[in-house]
Amino acid sequence: MKKTSLLFIAGLWSSLGYAQQKTIDQKVDSVLNLMTLEEKAGQLNQYSGRNVTGPVHERNVNMLDEIRKGHVGSMLNVKGAKVTREIQQEAMKTRLKIPLLFGLDVIHGYRVTFPIPLAEAASWDLDAIKLSAQVSAREAAAAGLHWTFAPMVDISRDPRWGRVMEGAGEDPYLGSLIAKARVEGLQGKGFGDLQAILACAKHFAAYGAALAGRDYNSVDISKRALWEIYLPPFKAAVDAGAATFMNSFNDINGIPATGNKYLQRDILKDKWGFNGIIVSDWGSITEMTAHGYAKDLKHATQLAITAGNDMDMESRGYRKHLVELVQEGKISIADVDNAVRRVLRKKFELGLFQDPYRYSNEKREKQELNADKNRQAAKEVAKKSIVLLKNETQILPISKTVKKLALIGPLAKSNKDMKGFWSVEWENDELVSLYDGVKSKLGKNTDILYAQGCNINDTITSGFAEALKVAQQADVVVMAVGETFDMSGEAKSRSDIHIPGVQEKLIQAIQETGKPVVVLIMAGRPLVFNYTANHVKSILYTWWLGSEAGHAMADVLFGDYNPSGKLPMTFPRSVGQIPLFYNYYNTGRPPLKNDTRYKSAYLDIPNTPQFAFGHGLSYTTFKYADLVLNKSEMNLNDTITVSVNITNTGKYDGEEVVQLYLKDEVAQPIRPVQELKDFQKINLKAGESKNLTFKIERSKLSFYDDDLNYITQPGDFKLMIGSASNDIRLEQKFTLR
Ligand code: BGC
Repeated sequence: MKKTSLLFIAGLWSSLGYAQQKTIDQKVDSVLNLMTLEEKAGQLNQYSGRNVTGPVHERNVNMLDEIRKGHVGSMLNVKGAKVTREIQQEAMKTRLKIPLLFGLDVIHGYRVTFPIPLAEAASWDLDAIKLSAQVSAREAAAAGLHWTFAPMVDISRDPRWGRVMEGAGEDPYLGSLIAKARVEGLQGKGFGDLQAILACAKHFAAYGAALAGRDYNSVDISKRALWEIYLPPFKAAVDAGAATFMNSFNDINGIPATGNKYLQRDILKDKWGFNGIIVSDWGSITEMTAHGYAKDLKHATQLAITAGNDMDMESRGYRKHLVELVQEGKISIADVDNAVRRVLRKKFELGLFQDPYRYSNEKREKQELNADKNRQAAKEVAKKSIVLLKNETQILPISKTVKKLALIGPLAKSNKDMKGFWSVEWENDELVSLYDGVKSKLGKNTDILYAQGCNINDTITSGFAEALKVAQQADVVVMAVGETFDMSGEAKSRSDIHIPGVQEKLIQAIQETGKPVVVLIMAGRPLVFNYTANHVKSILYTWWLGSEAGHAMADVLFGDYNPSGKLPMTFPRSVGQIPLFYNYYNTGRPPLKNDTRYKSAYLDIPNTPQFAFGHGLSYTTFKYADLVLNKSEMNLNDTITVSVNITNTGKYDGEEVVQLYLKDEVAQPIRPVQELKDFQKINLKAGESKNLTFKIERSKLSFYDDDLNYITQPGDFKLMIGSASNDIRLEQKFTLR
């Protein structure tokens, strides 16, 4: 067929009834066959439309011109039904009328902001996490978006890395379940569902293992660690049907991820059968020159497409060099065609060839954005994300009839920080601060006093006197300290992760008044806070909770919600302990009680964390009893059924995350001291008991050997059930024959 005989141009597809009769792959090929090499390169080019605001004629003309000439396959950073419609109209002026894909970082909410992903992970509530993704997708889809660059499924064991806020923490098992929940939530009923958008599992791979927690830094890990720790959430994302993947900025053992054939082609596309799009990270093709991996952008382009990177986000290498690279025989047309097919397939699956404007619906956008039910969902998820770290003298929950309550601290009245990093900016955003939330909860009989005390990064204590005066008058003091929203996030690595400035000094000053003090810590990462951890009796970790932060915190403070979160990351006592994680290997010299001489220990601090992975208290207490295994020996094809009885022994109804850990006692290679293998989050009324069952099967006992074979070794296993990784209540042995 002559390229110019465009009988089948888009827009005519549906009227010809052609679309219905063909499989998606046939449709994709029909379009591909019409395309020139330049048009193919265009499909693989993604530009940012950061300058694209205002009406079309005022926008960056070159960009629109590029679209009209067919040099663009996708835009990021444009949003809104009207704007996306107008830009799509430009794509409809191209020869083949191939629609654009619109993507945006919808990381924890679009119009309504949900808790940061790390906070949501602390809920250990997969339904809540899915709900958050669903609502975010519904809002974004109504605003013309087809695609989000989320979820970030990078495991990280280093809280210095600012992007831990965007992930699910340190554990591959929890991280995999959360990856699945997020992908399913975002993608809804399937591609083309107008309530949903395409997900993007990122950053492939091991971006969270950056040396010393410095963002973008090199990653030097064993292949076994790659497979065991860092890849499982990505595999879970593929299995859940993730439409797209993003590679990453880091090199991994000397090969930049963007040019990494082993990761992109061998593992993701070939072994895992992923048929979606791999997009580069922003400019990461260009960055291969800075790495010293490619001599110039053209060379980097060649390496990227050859390694399996399909779409170029803002390196402009595919735009500039793809055509000549094919013509010079440096890359194969088959690689280009394969990448273009992946892009076209998604456009077909979204229904964009039939109606390129189907997501850009202003009426739906108006109804959906910031809808009450969306805010309600954000509040529900926020409540569940809060972790009660300590409650020694039961100051919490605070009585609603408290006469004088003092709110003290630099974050007590902040609303913009509640949104956290990676949130979408809005004019007239309604964000609920702690102060707002407490005020709307308490009646006229409570006096709410307030003092800021200091700024987040202050080195001076001039505000302390006023704060002390306020504290002296109060019956209970609630303090709000932590990080501003821009202290954790991309390029927000910190070598010192103490609560910044003089905030802990302020806590100490207030604590020494002898008043009952509750400290709320708001942050995007695990912080270090030794004074607070050792002296303050009641501590809540509230992260950055999003639009409804203040309401959620007030519900927990005054007992309308009993906190149920558990830490998805280890909290170190000191930066010097990092990397510190719960699933470590025993050394040949584990420290003994009261004797750490010549042991694998520090002279100055214990090895143990300040707060362990899985830790989180409740206003009630839970008793664990009657651990029974239906057999103590199993074969490879067997299943052991584990049952345990949990009773709520306190005064409040509450939720508990019952955690199951395993330890393979003797193995080659050695296995971690414990590994999370299952958990259940349950709701128990005061006094209520429930029997839970768990299944132990082969998949829970398997691991990688040094040659990357996925194996199982016979021998003894220890099964541990508990309320945290360091609060194991019951254990038993079983044997694999
Ligand atoms: C980040 C990605 C993000 C992209 C687009 C990059 O700097 O690493 O996670 O999706 O920008 O905003």
